Amino acid sequence: MLNIGRIAGLLCVVSCAHGADRAAVEPHSGGVADYTVTIFDNLGGARVRACFRGFALAGLVPMDRSAASQLQGAWIDGIPLETREGRISLSQQLSHECVEYETQFERSRLGLGDASAVVLSQSQWLWRPEPFPTEVRTSVRFAVPGDGRVSLSWPQSNGVYQPNRNVFFVETFAVFGAFNQHAFSVANTRVEVARLGAAPLEKDVRRWLTRAVEATASVGGRFPLDHLQFVIVPVDDVGAEVAFGMVRRGGGSSVLLLPSADAQVAELEADWVAIHELSHLWLPRLHAKDRWLSEGIATYLQEVLRARCGLQSSDRAWRRIREGFERGRRSGSGQPLADESWSMNRTGAYQRVYWAGTAFALETDLRLRRGSNGENTLLTVLNDAQRNWQEEARLVSASRVLAALEQASGAEFIAALGEQYAASSDFPDTSYVDSPEYDDVRAQISAPAQGGCKVSGESSR
Ligand SMILES: [Zn+2]
Repeated sequence: MLNIGRIAGLLCVVSCAHGADRAAVEPHSGGVADYTVTIFDNLGGARVRACFRGFALAGLVPMDRSAASQLQGAWIDGIPLETREGRISLSQQLSHECVEYETQFERSRLGLGDASAVVLSQSQWLWRPEPFPTEVRTSVRFAVPGDGRVSLSWPQSNGVYQPNRNVFFVETFAVFGAFNQHAFSVANTRVEVARLGAAPLEKDVRRWLTRAVEATASVGGRFPLDHLQFVIVPVDDVGAEVAFGMVRRGGGSSVLLLPSADAQVAELEADWVAIHELSHLWLPRLHAKDRWLSEGIATYLQEVLRARCGLQSSDRAWRRIREGFERGRRSGSGQPLADESWSMNRTGAYQRVYWAGTAFALETDLRLRRGSNGENTLLTVLNDAQRNWQEEARLVSASRVLAALEQASGAEFIAALGEQYAASSDFPDTSYVDSPEYDDVRAQISAPAQGGCKVSGESSR
């Protein structure tokens, strides 16, 4: 084991000195929170030294209740503090104090990693000050055993991360240990990759992610973010090219992908999961009852963008959409779509929610195209509307998204159509998909993107 006390002490000297320098040259009206996180040798937990200045502190609390049991203890100057249900209590309100605490990582909460590296939510080691100050400047430093690395989506310079306040409220992925780390730019977006395991190879991962970012950027000739982190964790024997994907946005956007270790690069490129997850970034995070809208748009884009960018044929895209509608029609518990979305994780009604949402996206796209002679599409409207929320990490309502889409398009049907879908207990009628009347507009939707899917430097942003 490392001598944790000694290392934390040493780092605190550095951190406190930096804090003092910064305060002297750059006066700041709010508070300061400096964290030094020392990861244990076995990657099984962390000792955190957190120093606060400029605001009253009554205690420290975990981000969510499920992390509460991971707290092993807390101290000031070696004297134990009272802890209860994960909350660290200070006996009196302090205005300048360093608290140390220790957490044990619960790998089963994400179940990812190997002997060399772990992928965790920051909720497993980041406790936030309570009451939470209205303004706080946060810095986070890490000490990882051996020559271990850190990967996070947060802005950093020289190993000091300076995340915004969202990191205390919205989860993200943190990777610690020995893993492959590389970065590149595509569609004017800085992409950082943390890749565990030996395969797929770095060059294949890079090619796969480049194509997926380009396809997603083709919605508006730009990618919606400047910076993006990917966490790639290969899995064995999954029966799919990519077993799972997930986006998290606490302090920066992060996409977790679980490819098969055996997948060939062409199979990864043709797969839908990466483009689905990236497509979520055109929208903000939505409330649970509104997830039909975000999942519907991401599912629609995963099919349409792959066809537009030559990653699948147009016929295949339409076949997959039709088959999805059939699965959606057969699944669910007969509740209105908003309720079905809200209870989806409990009832497993994913097919109903995702594909009813896809039907909404398709109907909106068709009506926009027909009403504007192809001038407006769901893609052009998403591109415009995204400027309303940009990198907003808080939960947003479907009504705000629908209003923004309606405003961007000038069409007056989108909000009402969305409300109608949300309230409906029946799977939408999608029989028009096969109607010859729609042949032209269907062909337009899945036709190759004009000028291809590469986003040039000038047109991006
Ligand atoms: Zn999704």
